[in-house]
Amino acid sequence: MQTDFDVIVVGSGVGGATFADYLSRENKKLRIAILESGPFYDRSFFNQREVDMTRLYYNRGAVLSDNLEIAVAAANTMGGSSAVYTGVSFRPPTSVLEKWRNDFGMDFLKEEYISSSLDEIEKEINIHELPESWDNQNNQLFAKGAKKLGLSVKRLKINIKDCQQQGFCNLGCTVGAKRGTLEVQIPKVIERGVVVIANALVRKVGENRVYCTIKEAPEGSKPNKYKSGDYTFTAKRIVLAAGVLNTPAILLRSKKELSLSNTNIGRYITLHPAMNINGVYKENIYSYNGFPKTVYSDFYSESDHFYLETSFYFPGVTAKNNPGYGELHSDFMKDYSKMMSILILIHDEAEKHNRISIDRKGNTVVHYRLSAKAKEHLVKALQVSTQLFFEAGCTRALIPGSKKAPLTFEDKDNLEDLITSGELNFSKTSLSSAHPQGGARMGKDPSNSVCDTSGRVHGTKSIYVSDASLFPSSVKVNPYETIMLLSKYLAEEMLRSFE
Ligand SMILES: Cc1cc2nc3c(=O)[nH]c(=O)nc-3n(C[C@H](O)[C@H](O)[C@H](O)COP(=O)(O)OP(=O)(O)OC[C@H]3O[C@@H](n4cnc5c(N)ncnc54)[C@H](O)[C@@H]3O)c2cc1C
Repeated sequence: MQTDFDVIVVGSGVGGATFADYLSRENKKLRIAILESGPFYDRSFFNQREVDMTRLYYNRGAVLSDNLEIAVAAANTMGGSSAVYTGVSFRPPTSVLEKWRNDFGMDFLKEEYISSSLDEIEKEINIHELPESWDNQNNQLFAKGAKKLGLSVKRLKINIKDCQQQGFCNLGCTVGAKRGTLEVQIPKVIERGVVVIANALVRKVGENRVYCTIKEAPEGSKPNKYKSGDYTFTAKRIVLAAGVLNTPAILLRSKKELSLSNTNIGRYITLHPAMNINGVYKENIYSYNGFPKTVYSDFYSESDHFYLETSFYFPGVTAKNNPGYGELHSDFMKDYSKMMSILILIHDEAEKHNRISIDRKGNTVVHYRLSAKAKEHLVKALQVSTQLFFEAGCTRALIPGSKKAPLTFEDKDNLEDLITSGELNFSKTSLSSAHPQGGARMGKDPSNSVCDTSGRVHGTKSIYVSDASLFPSSVKVNPYETIMLLSKYLAEEMLRSFE
């Protein structure tokens, strides 16, 4: 079995598969491998049953922070989190790119390069606005409530093709409509001869060395090409694209072997903290029908640092998201078919104490505290969203941080007194993240970054990063398009180094 390559990419998600795609399309001679720790499932596995599909995720759902206050969802499967994402596509905001250029020396992010690259990416993965005729009632009611409040409503762009509007996108798509790496980049790179190995867990790396354990393929997944066991792979370049939960952890496990002393490794993570809340409409609206997300509002993005997106979650996750317990909670859940749903996304700042570390066994530990400022923004977002529910015609809402449960239509004009920071307790309520960023920040100066602007880890010769952990600060929008942009550039840089 081949164990020596020119380039080994660790991880097959957005960063890893995009990198391998650009590298292999331009240089057919390079011997490239992707080592992916998750199984390789094909479409026939995606049955859209919530309990079965939790197998796609780390910890069968999410990784909790050490203080138990936030749960980070990420997939451990071929395709990475792009196998479960919704495909909401945003270009990075110009203010964020300006900060990355000015504060971190990412000078390659020039206007012209960004727009031509994103034009190309968006065409390739079919990013487009969905027509209004696709708006299900949840999306229509969001637009109605927002307009009554005077909030601007915009249409989301999504990367789908031949979508059958099954609704359960975050459980994997049965028809392959989502243009994630499982459908777009991975088939292409396999066709070009890239060796793609599933169930291959990378423990650590050294210069030109990858230490990996290949496990049995789980039932229902494609069989392994390599026998189970421990392997040492060798390569001229090694590209870590294991995502924010794991790229920093691999670097921390490899500190001795690589003689790394950079104290920024794992630090400055941002989580784009999210809260999904629900109101009950007066009649059935069946949010699970149709594509879940078509509209959003960035009205408060500059002033109060949050976005509101429409959303839909399956019964188990919805039960977790709704605060409280007992009769009150179960009564509320009985109205699942009447539920309107909003996803609040808070733009958090990169802070040094928020970080990925490893425990004694080398496993990832997430340390995260929501800042007081971010908590204020969240409270404001909860107040606005609850008001939006009532303006749209909801009769009650079960809202975290509220003095009253449930809140009813009559409370509509009193929400600032009823939903408060003092009542919002993160050990009782469910804060989550699906957009982790940082931990191996890019920058020219090793004193505030981990990787240089070619993606190479400062102080190493052969170790590179190509995933969301490169972000020096939060991109403040759904991140996958920005990850693709960076990965495209880094692959082009590496190609130049092979010339
Ligand atoms: C439910 C959900 C919905 C989302 N919706 C959207 C959306 O609509 N729009 C958007 O922009 N973003 C969305 N995201 C976020 C987006 O999917 C991520 O930002 C993106 O996938 C991150 O890319 P990445 O390459 O950094 O990591 P990933 O895509 O997570 O890939 C990392 C890969 O590395 C593998 N790996 C980890 N450790 C190892 C190891 N030690 N050895 C080998 N392989 C390893 C993992 O199994 C995984 O396949 C969503 C995420 C989730 C979870």
